[in-house]
Amino acid sequence: MPRPHTFPSADHDHRHCLDEILTAAERLCRQRRARLTPRRRRVLEIVAESHAAIGAYDIIDRLAADGGRPAPITVYRALDFLMSQGLVHRLASLNAYVSCPQAGAEHGAQFLICHDCGAIGELADPGVEARIAEAAAHVGFEVAMPLVEIAGTCAECRRAAT
Ligand SMILES: [Zn+2]
Ligand SMILES: [Zn+2]
Ligand SMILES: [Zn+2]
Repeated sequence: MPRPHTFPSADHDHRHCLDEILTAAERLCRQRRARLTPRRRRVLEIVAESHAAIGAYDIIDRLAADGGRPAPITVYRALDFLMSQGLVHRLASLNAYVSCPQAGAEHGAQFLICHDCGAIGELADPGVEARIAEAAAHVGFEVAMPLVEIAGTCAECRRAAT
């Protein structure tokens, strides 16, 4: 269901979001005995720095600014780890990554992608998921990962345009 902070207001305190994401990641990885190495944690921090998606090469640039340009493969490995833990999602339509506000087990999601400001809102509407599974089953298709990417304009940008 859409939650009030699916699209936080432009003037929200993002340090709070970032804190929540990193704390949840640390807790989940501890529970699962998964190794959130400093590199993986830093990549998550970079991805979670905004509600927009970020491409792998921008992540590499950010890491290079920390000192020492990492080999792309190490960044892709860190992203694979973060995705396998359900902490980060890859948006195929943007070829970019976004942090998950409801980190946990792998889950289906509907991403609302604002083409004005780049903000991504993640919905997890069980009704939509059930409908996709039903329609897919109708043609004998078994859904493994129902990720839906929806392009449009967020409420803030729509307000700004009027
Ligand atoms: Zn935020
Ligand atoms: Zn998610
Ligand atoms: Zn927007």
